[in-house]
Amino acid sequence: MTTTTKTKLQTIDAQHHIHPFTDSGDLVKKGTRVIERAEGVYLYDSEGNKILDGMAGLWCVNIGYGRQELIDAATEQMQQLPYYNSFFQCTTPPTIELAELLSELAPDHLNHVFFTGSGSESNDTMLRLARHYWACKGKPNKQVIIARKNAYHGSTVAGASLSGMTVMHKQGALPIAGIEHINQPYWFGEGFDEDPNEFGLRVARELEEKILELGEDNVAAFIAEPVQGAGGVVIPPESYWPEIQRICDQYEILLVSDEVICGFGRTGKWFGCDYFGTKPDLMPIAKGISSGYLPIGGVLISDEVAETLKNSGDEFYHGFTYSGHPTAAAVATANIKVLRDEGIVERVDQEIAPYFSEKLQQLASHPIVGEVRTLGLLAAIELMQDKEQHLFFEDKGAVGTRCRDISVTNGLVMRGVGSTMVMSPPLVITKEEIDLLYERVLKTLDDTAAEFL
Ligand SMILES: *Cc1c(COP(=O)(O)O)cnc(C)c1O
Repeated sequence: MTTTTKTKLQTIDAQHHIHPFTDSGDLVKKGTRVIERAEGVYLYDSEGNKILDGMAGLWCVNIGYGRQELIDAATEQMQQLPYYNSFFQCTTPPTIELAELLSELAPDHLNHVFFTGSGSESNDTMLRLARHYWACKGKPNKQVIIARKNAYHGSTVAGASLSGMTVMHKQGALPIAGIEHINQPYWFGEGFDEDPNEFGLRVARELEEKILELGEDNVAAFIAEPVQGAGGVVIPPESYWPEIQRICDQYEILLVSDEVICGFGRTGKWFGCDYFGTKPDLMPIAKGISSGYLPIGGVLISDEVAETLKNSGDEFYHGFTYSGHPTAAAVATANIKVLRDEGIVERVDQEIAPYFSEKLQQLASHPIVGEVRTLGLLAAIELMQDKEQHLFFEDKGAVGTRCRDISVTNGLVMRGVGSTMVMSPPLVITKEEIDLLYERVLKTLDDTAAEFL
């Protein structure tokens, strides 16, 4: 594509397209990067740049770009039956097949799924389902959902309310009633002078305090990401999840593991709860379920919750036009089969994640880096003004955004969350590609340090 047509596309984009999570005025000034195609772990933009996608799109392209199996699945399903709904006693073969496959992969007690079109819809579904479940159990007052500060659970009204991001809450008078937030297990940023496991226990016990404050008869569920993604790849100390599990069990609170990022191999296990050994009652899923090739999500539901619904004698008045969309379901099934049959998740666990961690940990001694943390193929690099003094930059967003831009110039997509640089590459990334990723991160850190230190 020539520069003139690119400029024209950018102009049209600026005139007509309001982008998500974007300062529109600022974008009009800067112009957008037009991504035209992709293959494997690489993106190609309209200016001819080949960029290593260190974010797998938005944490979702787990099997990488350009897989023919998914293209074929979509084509065949569209020819056969592009769309039909799952309302009014109907369903479609790909929807059924995907439901069975998910039940096989999920922890033993999760054998049911409610389909949605996205992670946000999954969390809206979770909220309504958790409250409805307790009403069916004769405990209609169990309504409050406890979530965490700095969590990300989506952008719909329920999703943004469950999310713990103050900037989102400021717009549109959120959160809605009945949602409470406790602290996140962000040791490096918020507990650095404490022993990590002591800190983990302390913040986990905030859940207990909150339940006692509200009364357990008023609390429906606790929701958390196994590893907080959009909040800056916050990996909890080892002590954290077992204590959360204990509290949920003791007070009869549904445990909701938001697996939208951690699901489908990101941690080196099929789900984040498999990694941490927790036993959630509900699991919102999306993103990696289809590697982003088509939009689809869902909520995995425990046998106990599903039985209660079935025995309630009433309808669950909830659903989407695209719940169980056959083409999206066929693509998700093809995606999961590639992940499973090629042993991609096991390879991440045994080979690729250890290599990724070993390489990136070499950056911990860089003058601008305060900490490097990884889990599976998730990584965070904390940028700091003065690591000896544990001093963060005053304007965290400015350094993170600049570092992100430098990174793209250096041929790598990293994302800045405040001054935390995060990565989540496709699970099919090779060791050679990790070497290249490492070189580009290093160059980016050098360039950023030259400007900010
Ligand atoms: C992305 C994300 C969501 C929202 O998913 P959408 O498909 O963007 O609506 C929810 N939870 C987590 C943990 C996510 O990362």
